[in-house]
Amino acid sequence: MVEWGIRMQVIVIGGGIGGLSTALALHAAGIPVRVFESVPEMAAVGVGINIQPNAVRELTELGLGEELARNAVATAELAYYSKHGQLIWSEARGIAAGYLWPQYSIHRGRLQMILYDAVRSRIGSDNILTGHALQSFAQDADGVTAHFIDWATGANLESARGDILIGADGIHSAVRRHYYPNDEVHFGGQLMWRAAVDWAPFLTGRSMIIAGHRDQKIVAYPMLTLPDGRVQMNWIAELGRPGAPPREDWNRRVDKSVFAAQFSSWKFDWLDVPAMIDATDVSYEFPKIDRNPVERWTFGRVTLAGDAAHPMHPVGSQAGSQAVVDGRVLAWHLATCKDPLQALQRYQDERLPAMRDITLGNRTLGPEVVMQIVEERAPDGFTNLHDILPPAELASRAAEFKEKAGFAIEALNRRASYSVR
Ligand SMILES: Cc1cc2nc3c(=O)[nH]c(=O)nc-3n(C[C@H](O)[C@H](O)[C@H](O)COP(=O)(O)OP(=O)(O)OC[C@H]3O[C@@H](n4cnc5c(N)ncnc54)[C@H](O)[C@@H]3O)c2cc1C
Repeated sequence: MVEWGIRMQVIVIGGGIGGLSTALALHAAGIPVRVFESVPEMAAVGVGINIQPNAVRELTELGLGEELARNAVATAELAYYSKHGQLIWSEARGIAAGYLWPQYSIHRGRLQMILYDAVRSRIGSDNILTGHALQSFAQDADGVTAHFIDWATGANLESARGDILIGADGIHSAVRRHYYPNDEVHFGGQLMWRAAVDWAPFLTGRSMIIAGHRDQKIVAYPMLTLPDGRVQMNWIAELGRPGAPPREDWNRRVDKSVFAAQFSSWKFDWLDVPAMIDATDVSYEFPKIDRNPVERWTFGRVTLAGDAAHPMHPVGSQAGSQAVVDGRVLAWHLATCKDPLQALQRYQDERLPAMRDITLGNRTLGPEVVMQIVEERAPDGFTNLHDILPPAELASRAAEFKEKAGFAIEALNRRASYSVR
């Protein structure tokens, strides 16, 4: 049994974006922490992810601002287009929009390795244990005991004891399953194919575009500038698929012939979609899934964070950002509240209602609903956008989402810091 013997000890389950940033936030708040991750070795897996200014603020306050700037593209514009390539909405993002912090588009694996390196150097390699999959846990009046298994060998590993356990173990969280054994994934009805390719920059060179509608969509954004002037482009193709989804696996490779033909005419002035798909070697399939929001994340000494707490459809680029913010809010309450159990309640009270609203709102497309409205009202294209979608409606959809998601410009710029020292 691992015993630390220091006043408060936190066990974090999962070394993804949420678990690692939570560990850094706890450490910065002076709270000892150990992270347990199921994979045998950390590797830079995934493709692109977006970190919104609210989360970049937290990572910057954790001392990672420069590292992020070196490894990401500071997104300057978000634009929605119809399937015909007609502009529906565009807005400045990050610093260009007036935030004090940028929005970053970055390779998820690169972000994870930045966080992992910071955890190792600040908290110590001994305090991040890979090859440790949570098998079960139990809490009593004095603490929580977690039991682990090595998935590769099936061997039982040494158990760990702490005061608090945070389940940051992703969309298939074992911690969440403990409390919600019948909780099922909810399929939104679309499959996504995610990929990265070295490609020419388009529009501002730092634009993120989303084109199409609910059942046929392309997302593209640069996530690294290459020395030859090209960019590492992240793209996602999405198509409606009735019926049951395939088993979700972030690493499932699928041949692009499965979806490429349906985008063959999507040649826009600013982006040749079929050529970009054609130039790509590997694409990963993932169904658009989430889970029904739950009433509680906190159960005594145990709580949930990130995708384990609020798995949501990838609309509005929220999952990674909200996982980072969860960690900072958790650390803040644990550091500033005398009773750690009450701290976990306060964390839940602060975070759960907004995450529930975003999860449900994303099922009806969140801010991207304007693309669906255009598809329904003008499937063959439009002459004057404002005849079918008034400018005020466009602007209010975008503003409403930012407010709910905690990155309304003025509110974020003015909000007090979660740093405790
Ligand atoms: C391999 C992978 C690739 C991804 N690729 C992308 C991408 O390209 N784009 C994108 O937007 N999002 C991607 N995501 C999801 C994205 O990282 C999350 O939606 C978001 O960052 C929230 O992070 P999280 O830490 O809550 O969850 P995750 O980042 O999913 O991290 C959860 C972690 O918990 C670990 N874990 C799971 N079960 C256990 C267990 N029983 N015991 C211990 N550890 C456990 C997992 O191995 C993982 O490291 C990916 C996730 C994974 C795991």
